[in-house]
Amino acid sequence: MPNIRKYSLSIINYYKSFGIESHIQNTPRIRFKNELNTKIIKDSINDKLVKLREKIANLDNKLKLEAKNLVFYDGKLDSNIMIIGEAPGYEEDKIGKPFVGAAGKKLDEMINAIGLDRKHNVYITNILPWRPPNNRTPSDEEVEFFLPYVEEHISIINPEILLLFGNVASKALLNLREGITKNHGVWFKYKNPHLKKEIFTTCIFHPSYLLRSPNKKKIAWEDLKKVKEKITDLNI
Ligand code: URA
Repeated sequence: MPNIRKYSLSIINYYKSFGIESHIQNTPRIRFKNELNTKIIKDSINDKLVKLREKIANLDNKLKLEAKNLVFYDGKLDSNIMIIGEAPGYEEDKIGKPFVGAAGKKLDEMINAIGLDRKHNVYITNILPWRPPNNRTPSDEEVEFFLPYVEEHISIINPEILLLFGNVASKALLNLREGITKNHGVWFKYKNPHLKKEIFTTCIFHPSYLLRSPNKKKIAWEDLKKVKEKITDLNI
């Protein structure tokens, strides 16, 4: 608000400098469209996220009993690029944010390499909101249980591009018969019942996998370059 007041005054003073004393218009005109719209959009996303988080927090699920924190999201609310990983690990559970441990550092390195970062242009979440004990791979039942909430989450962020890191997120959202080894770097059009549009979606090797198998880094880099190209094509 203080900024709007400052801009209003500067516009009035600008008119006054021409000797204009009054200005009558039938309909009000918004002169701060972008600034105001961004704030309105962010507030609306935030309200929906607060409700979704509450819904998830109240779920009756065994994982919650052993986890320390619900891990919901990190990044920019009105982002055009949404990243979905698998599940929180030890560090994420401790802090309550996705991808903050070793895999998170690797993820940052990967997205930074194509000019992205979580503060300015990506939104990050996981398929599971709670850490599976001992970082085990989520079961099919767990993925199925949380999928409707992930779908709702995607529709709230409504990104232009969806990046699925690892096999669990890729198989869950794209319903793939074969895993990420066959499907990485390919563009899919993702849709779910909440969405009004299809979203360009691709699968990328999980950063934890790259930490264990550094020889796969070159393939991941080729896939990241395709993401960069798509960002340029879509002009986002
Ligand atoms: N691995 C994931 O898939 N998600 C996290 O948040 C951390 C590690």
